[in-house]
Amino acid sequence: MGISLKLSDYKTTYDTEWCPGCGDFGILSALAQSAFELNIEPHKLVFVSGIGCSSKTPHALKAYGVHTLHGRALPFALGIKLANPNLEVIAVGGDGDGYGIGAGHFSNAGRRNVDITYVVFNNEVYGLTKGQASPTLKLGMKTKSLPLPNINAGVNPIAWALACGYTFIARSYAYDTKHLKEVIKKGIQHKGLALIDVLQPCPTYNDIHDKGWFEEVIMQPNIKRVYKLEDTGYDYKVKDPTNQDEILRKQLQALAKSFEWDDKVPIGIFYQIEISTYEERINERCKTYFAAPPASQQIEDPLTKQAITDISKLMEPITL
Ligand code: SF4
Ligand code: MG
Repeated sequence: MGISLKLSDYKTTYDTEWCPGCGDFGILSALAQSAFELNIEPHKLVFVSGIGCSSKTPHALKAYGVHTLHGRALPFALGIKLANPNLEVIAVGGDGDGYGIGAGHFSNAGRRNVDITYVVFNNEVYGLTKGQASPTLKLGMKTKSLPLPNINAGVNPIAWALACGYTFIARSYAYDTKHLKEVIKKGIQHKGLALIDVLQPCPTYNDIHDKGWFEEVIMQPNIKRVYKLEDTGYDYKVKDPTNQDEILRKQLQALAKSFEWDDKVPIGIFYQIEISTYEERINERCKTYFAAPPASQQIEDPLTKQAITDISKLMEPITL
């Protein structure tokens, strides 16, 4: 019989100490609502983070949580999923954490296509360490936390993910929790690696891309800078993953949309394709090399209850 869960079952009372008005609150709320609406039991759910303001998120969610090292959320998350594919694994963290320190992991995760979800809180600054420019802040931009305009160019996470092979690529906005929740749910339901880049205003250090900028009416009647791709009839999904022409067409379309920024900022799903996951590929090899993922392997004799694994070699002192 299924367990009847309430939304409050997904939240702890941990105080994240985020600043008033921080976009992180909206993302936290959307994450809890997504898990609740998909009826994922908390003991089957894992949140993995790196370091930063947003990396405190796993503490505030009632599920398994791992607060790892800077830039290392993705490799931890991939390892957890491979060890126990029955878990729903969601990596969370900031743009500095994921696109800066974790840049190599970000690229290579795309090549593998492990079935996890990665939610990036993108505020264009390193909030926890007082607002230095992060990898997504564009060249020449000057936030109130910088003494001079940014001397480096910014990366485009959507285009980057596309180049690396991510199979679900989306963007949402932290103050539109309804939209964000729906995108996260679709990312979780996607079979493969899902990136959800979330525009996350940081009112403390980023005064150029704030709520007023994102929601400014740029065209009457009431057309805001942030607009939804789904409202324009945009078709993001590759229907036939064997059709190279369709794949190229959808990738080029997503690429073009990813560079829209100053006057119009699209949110929604940019691209989705279903291909084999890393787990499926490794399962093919498991038939020859491994009996099952580590979490499913037998570790005791069912009759004698004696351990049938031998870790004595791991306990031996290392001699150089
Ligand atoms: Fe949020 Fe910015 Fe404050 Fe960090 S510094 S908690 S990102 S508002
Ligand atoms: Mg950041």
